[in-house]
Amino acid sequence: MAMGNYKHLLLAVDFEPNGAPVIERARQLYAQFGSRLTLLHVLEPVMPPQEYMPLGCGAELPLPDDIGLEHELLELSQRQLDVIGDELGVAPEDRLVRIGSTGHTIDAVAAEIGADLVVVGSHGRHGFMRLFGSTSKAVLGSLTCDVLCVKLSEGGGA
Ligand code: AMP
Repeated sequence: MAMGNYKHLLLAVDFEPNGAPVIERARQLYAQFGSRLTLLHVLEPVMPPQEYMPLGCGAELPLPDDIGLEHELLELSQRQLDVIGDELGVAPEDRLVRIGSTGHTIDAVAAEIGADLVVVGSHGRHGFMRLFGSTSKAVLGSLTCDVLCVKLSEGGGA
């Protein structure tokens, strides 16, 4: 089966200091394939203080609108994403900030935009840290397109 180049990449950006190799890998692929590149940062819903939590309430209740924290976080994230978008030459409409659970939202956006390759970092956790699920694992488990998992070291760099 003949396989063409990837046409639309989705880069999942977490703004962590050791995430540079993930961005660099996406930059290389984007240049090599001449693909479209969409950037995505996901904000997990902000948890209200315990006193605002009705009994039996689920864990992902957003703060009331008037507190405005979520709005500020959205703006801050958008500004951080714009810095990366400017560096990579990504169109403003392809710089997305969404609220949700990270793995699920990456999957949903990949389907929404018709991405054929998702680029994420893998922190290569070991020992005790292996007990926790990582975003890359969540994405690998449920995505319907290809995933490039860029291996990252804990301390920084690839
Ligand atoms: P982690 O789950 O911390 O091991 O993160 C692995 C990779 O998942 C990161 O390098 C990013 O590519 C992606 N990722 C983690 N958190 C987010 C987030 N909040 N928004 C978008 N991508 C993320």
